[in-house]
Amino acid sequence: MQNEQTEELRRYAEEAAAKAASGKELYAAKTDVQAKLKAFMSGMRDLPKEERPAFGKTVNELKEKIEALFAAREEELRQKELEARYAAEQVDVTMPGRKRVQGSLHPVTLVKNQLIDIFAGMGFEIFEGPETETEYYNFTALNTPADHPSRDMQDTFYLGGDLLLRTQTSAGQIRVMQNKKPPIKVLSPGRVFRPDDDATHSPMFHQMEGLVVDKGITLCDLKGMLAEFAAKMFTSDTKVRLRPSYFPFTEPSVEVDLSCFVCGGKGCRLCKGTGWIEVLGSGMVNRRVLENCGVDPDEYTGFAFGMGLERIAMLKYGVNNIKNFYDNDVRFLTQFKD
Ligand SMILES: [Zn+2]
Repeated sequence: MQNEQTEELRRYAEEAAAKAASGKELYAAKTDVQAKLKAFMSGMRDLPKEERPAFGKTVNELKEKIEALFAAREEELRQKELEARYAAEQVDVTMPGRKRVQGSLHPVTLVKNQLIDIFAGMGFEIFEGPETETEYYNFTALNTPADHPSRDMQDTFYLGGDLLLRTQTSAGQIRVMQNKKPPIKVLSPGRVFRPDDDATHSPMFHQMEGLVVDKGITLCDLKGMLAEFAAKMFTSDTKVRLRPSYFPFTEPSVEVDLSCFVCGGKGCRLCKGTGWIEVLGSGMVNRRVLENCGVDPDEYTGFAFGMGLERIAMLKYGVNNIKNFYDNDVRFLTQFKD
């Protein structure tokens, strides 16, 4: 009687395990079989004492068999699931790859990063001033009072009241000198605004301004530093030429020309046959500007230089219209790689 029941339960468990098609179904089947086994075991109470040990042994053997059965089936199902997953995740390495379009930095950003690299190597810190300035920082403190004719050269967009869009990154010089004691060595890149609009001018463009203030700084320091910059930015034999000029915030002021890096000075279309290319404006910081910032001009001297990033990019990459930089035409933009 007991043997029959044991056999029946074993077969029941075997079928239930075989029928389960997933780990979840197998778990349900096992729970069901275990409940049945428990009910069978409870029959031991009704047996005479001397038959109980034999019954217990039978039940234990059955329990072990059932457990082994389910463990084997579980392993089998696990293998099957794994195989199915491998089949689904198979990669055909002979298939052509999908090409990802990689973006590139804007040419003005490339030039800006190169300049920052060059000047940071000479010990310059970066300072970015605000694009919205007051008349004081943009003009007055830079030695350009309200009736000064050079305000016309750099007329700007007035925002009402005392505020305007800065015409030059030089405005940042004042902020730096007001907040930092010399020695000062800062580089200020950023957007500036002027109402000019033609093939080489845009109402918005980018400038990079450099300022050095310390004891005993002379024009020679400026020229030496510019030679280093020219060699790194263009070619190693690029020469620097200073021409007298005028800016209200520097005295003396100079225009800086570089020997043409296309023809090497012989004369070509880029340099209009002169062998030289005008690249930036510069000069020794005007005494009045130093005084305006609380720096003693008898103790300290300094120089400042400013260049248009679009101008540098146009020269370096041979771009002839500044508008190309703002059209966002990917055919133009993807030509520039680091
Ligand atoms: Zn040339």
